[in-house]
Amino acid sequence: MIPNRPDTVWLFDYDLTLYGTEERCVINSLDHRISLFVQKTVGTDFETAHKLRTDYLERFGTTLAGLMAMNQVDPDEFFDFIHEPENLIYPKESPEKLKLLQRLAGRRYVFTNGRHDWSEAGMDHMGIRSAMDGVFDLKMMDWVGKPHDSAYEKMERWLGEKSQIVLLEDSLRNLEPAHRRGWTTVFVSPSAEIPDWVDYHIPHILDLIRILE
Ligand SMILES: [Mg+2]
Repeated sequence: MIPNRPDTVWLFDYDLTLYGTEERCVINSLDHRISLFVQKTVGTDFETAHKLRTDYLERFGTTLAGLMAMNQVDPDEFFDFIHEPENLIYPKESPEKLKLLQRLAGRRYVFTNGRHDWSEAGMDHMGIRSAMDGVFDLKMMDWVGKPHDSAYEKMERWLGEKSQIVLLEDSLRNLEPAHRRGWTTVFVSPSAEIPDWVDYHIPHILDLIRILE
């Protein structure tokens, strides 16, 4: 069971963690915008742009990192384009999530490879923003996100005092560096494949309640 103490810092990844795979349409709507941005930037057809995206994701960790390295893209321009609200779907209102988050002792932050406005808008739609203390976003990581060690270093520095950090994530790739730093890792995923270094596994964010002390 995870100790639920006032000195615990709860870090939540946003996409497919604070909302689950049952709302995959949310990330799909953003993905579509990212592919359109790549298409517009590189000047190819949609299919090729989508392939390039996957390639960047593999090689650079995120599509944006690839675009910055290979196409000199300005990150704010990228996010301004992909976050246009009329083209996006947001997660549904969830009073259960609000209740769950309010039960957590200690500070709660979003730790995301996106820009803050995306998760903030999503949290507004879910009705949970009041239960969160803030968003540590990609801009605050100087555009070099998880799983790069610098992202976790910056997070620790930002939090200040050595605290008991718990990271909830749907990506094992992003959880692994947290594990190496001694953070408590919670793999949030319906996946059945769980590496043995993962501290806790829950299929969905709402299951966090079951592993709280
Ligand atoms: Mg995620």
